[in-house]
Amino acid sequence: MKTGRPMVKVGILKQPNPSGGALFACVSTAIAAVVILTMVASLGWSIYIQRSSQLAASLDKASTVSRLLAGATEALLASNETSRLRRVIAEAAMEHELDECRVLLPSGQVVADADPTRITPAPVPDRWYGPATEYSESATSDGIKTVWPIEVPGRGHVRLEIAVHTKSSFAALLEQQGGLGVVCIVALGSLLAIRRYANAKLRPIQAIRQALLTVSSGQRNIESLGVCADYGPEAEAWNMLLAERQSLDDQALMRDARKSLQAGNGANSDIGAACDGLPHGLVLVEHSGRIRYVNGAASVLLEAAREELVGAELANFIENDTIIQAVKNASTGPSYERSLIEVERSSGSSAEGVLRYVVRPVRREDNGSAMIIIEDITQKRVADESRNAFLAQAAHELRTPLTNIRLYVEMAQTDGQDDPTVRAKSLNVINDESQRLERIVADILSVSEIEAGSFKLRHDDVRFEVLLDQLKADYEPQAKDKQIQLTFEMPPKLPVVQGDRDKLVLALHNLIGNALKYTQAGGRVTVNAEADNTSLSIDVIDTGIGIHPEETEKIFEKFYRARDSRVSGLTGSGIGLALAREVIRMHGGDIVVKSELDKGSYFTLTLPISAEAA
Ligand code: ADP
Repeated sequence: MKTGRPMVKVGILKQPNPSGGALFACVSTAIAAVVILTMVASLGWSIYIQRSSQLAASLDKASTVSRLLAGATEALLASNETSRLRRVIAEAAMEHELDECRVLLPSGQVVADADPTRITPAPVPDRWYGPATEYSESATSDGIKTVWPIEVPGRGHVRLEIAVHTKSSFAALLEQQGGLGVVCIVALGSLLAIRRYANAKLRPIQAIRQALLTVSSGQRNIESLGVCADYGPEAEAWNMLLAERQSLDDQALMRDARKSLQAGNGANSDIGAACDGLPHGLVLVEHSGRIRYVNGAASVLLEAAREELVGAELANFIENDTIIQAVKNASTGPSYERSLIEVERSSGSSAEGVLRYVVRPVRREDNGSAMIIIEDITQKRVADESRNAFLAQAAHELRTPLTNIRLYVEMAQTDGQDDPTVRAKSLNVINDESQRLERIVADILSVSEIEAGSFKLRHDDVRFEVLLDQLKADYEPQAKDKQIQLTFEMPPKLPVVQGDRDKLVLALHNLIGNALKYTQAGGRVTVNAEADNTSLSIDVIDTGIGIHPEETEKIFEKFYRARDSRVSGLTGSGIGLALAREVIRMHGGDIVVKSELDKGSYFTLTLPISAEAA
């Protein structure tokens, strides 16, 4: 049996459906992302355009400056004014911020250069030879470079090389626009972080909102409204509220149930009294698994006070999972469902035995509930078992004499036709076996009469000296056959006892028959009878196999046979002694035994005698 405070269970809504708020957050995030990506793209495009226009401007500049310097170079070299030419080149380079500006002969000799250190130190010849250079312009990673051919009349061809650097301005541009790019990326990152945070905050609210919508749609089952506790403090607070609500509901249910139990007026009290009169336990269980009603028998079988049971969880009092599941199925499943469960009472329970639980649904308008009928089938089980054992033993017992009778009838009909000795022997055996059969049938009938309560005793005047003489005559041939010394010691006259002669004979037959059966050849069986004023006692003493001390009481139980292997080798049903004791006790007497294993047994039968008879 389990006890303890009932637990409040809350089901968990793990995935709330996306609602308007979440959709809005998604769409606005997507729009912001598109805007930021557009900004980044336009930044790249503007960098590309600016770089292209800077290159074009540098080319223009290089061409213009080249054209001007070409004229000056031609004139100054023609008049052999090399120093002036060098000054003009240096000044032009400085003025127009040229990276490179120089004049070279076809041989590669530098005549003039913006950087004077790079001028070839050799003197400029009066005339030089070499092919004219082609005009060319080229874009480098740093900027633009132009090569301008000049023909100096009377001296030869030279070339003017000018390079304009664009890198510094491009880097500045990149720096300026790059800042903007970084801002965009940071903005995008922040946006995503904010969205994540907002989602985390929105999730419990969404789940709670969904739970509220479920309630508004008519769902009242608190168990299905819980929210996953991982969603944070809002979810925990909501679940706490639900748990409190459930606890209040449970308390109200218990109050109602107890009130209806105590109210006990009008029709209810009649029904309650009627239910209490039922021999079987009756338990009504709510859909939630709590007990709504128990009758008196159920309270006894569940071993708990009614006040303790009503309103409590059924699982606290019935530990068997199959029953708990059957009750759940009955409250939710089809109305015809019915379960039958038989359970051995646990060893911890004060009573032992077998209980049968029948669980069936009870349908009400608002909710399903279940009804359990509990029946103690311990006695029924024992009776079933003993009936089966009885039938098996009876069949076994009857088979042996019947087989013998059939065999000897056959023998009398075949060999006995011509041989009178065989015929006489066969008839003797048939006679003995028929008597044995008669006794067994009488035993079986007596047992079934006792079990059915219809066993009646006749009141005969029983003369024991006559009866014992008769028994002596009956058993002497058997004792002789088995080489057992059978002695009857009794006074010549014994008091007349009032009783059922046949039943008393049956009891003595069992005692003397057993003594001969369980004594080996060469042993002794003594029957002593004596009487005083109040009782008659008959001792049946043998020197047989004896009985183990632990079994001296058990042998009087129905169908019990000693565990001794020497016993199992002999025919017997285990009902003789039980019947004998029952019969003698019905006469007001008793049978007791003293025995020692391998030494022998000492059975004493006592019967009361009336003063008049004494
Ligand atoms: P059964 O048909 O087996 O003899 P009983 O009821 O007459 O059945 O006896 C029950 C058991 O008691 C026997 O099986 C045997 O083990 C034991 N018993 C009875 N009488 C004696 C005896 N005189 N000596 C030893 N054991 C005995």
